[in-house]
Amino acid sequence: MSCECTKCGACCVAPDIAMLDKPLGLVCPHLGPDNLCTVYEQRPATCRNYQADELCAAIDAPTLEERVQKYLAHFGVTEEAEQIRASGITSLTEWRRRRWAVAAAKKA
Ligand code: SF4
Ligand code: SF4
Repeated sequence: MSCECTKCGACCVAPDIAMLDKPLGLVCPHLGPDNLCTVYEQRPATCRNYQADELCAAIDAPTLEERVQKYLAHFGVTEEAEQIRASGITSLTEWRRRRWAVAAAKKA
């Protein structure tokens, strides 16, 4: 179901976005301090195609960080987002490479 976007900014922080090499839970470098996109006319297709839905209402909260945490919890990726933030890694590609290396080391 399509809903109205409140321009809360959560979908520019919580999800990973491959086209931007952005990992889970990190603020998109194009998000402005007003939670609006600073490259709106040039934003990638992933962002253009993103539709507001019931989740937007479900994650409503006073602060951006609270909305992001609700979003992450909804998809069960809170722990991974915390690991990413703690690692200091800002590239989705690099994060995936790290996870594959860890998984491969466990199998060996
Ligand atoms: S999470 Fe939903 S309401 Fe918030 S900016 Fe994204 S689409 Fe809009
Ligand atoms: S490019 Fe713009 S719309 Fe896309 S995640 Fe970044 S700030 Fe949000």
